[in-house]
Amino acid sequence: MRCPRCDGIEDKVLESRSLASGESLRRRRECLSCGYRFTSYERIEEKRLMVIKNDKRREVFEREKLERGIQRACEKRNISQVTIEEMINDIEDEAAMIGKSVHEITSRKVGEIVLKKLYALDRVAYVRFASVYRQFKDVDEFVREIASLKGGD
Ligand SMILES: [Zn+2]
Repeated sequence: MRCPRCDGIEDKVLESRSLASGESLRRRRECLSCGYRFTSYERIEEKRLMVIKNDKRREVFEREKLERGIQRACEKRNISQVTIEEMINDIEDEAAMIGKSVHEITSRKVGEIVLKKLYALDRVAYVRFASVYRQFKDVDEFVREIASLKGGD
């Protein structure tokens, strides 16, 4: 959080307290550059996004799962970790936006978002992801496959 006095970006949290409504968090912070103390208010993460699988079962959206599949597709490509991280952030944001009102999204839709982002980023990574993903019923099955491939390297 940026210090309102010196613009420093590093601070430590002195105290955290959720407000009575339960929807936001108040934090007392101290800037590590100039020692200025200030208060921030943050919205507490809303209900977790659920992913509806093809067989209609629902699972909590997990960034880590997504990350494993994407890292694998981007392996040995000239793509920085920062770029990959940012892309995953975008995918997560987009999934959350789509599922905002009902807190759920289909796994197919998640797969489509990933493919769209990979396509824009790197065609080889896209083809790798797509060629495996398309054979599977949903992204979870794909990720399981990816995980098992990883062991065989
Ligand atoms: Zn400061």
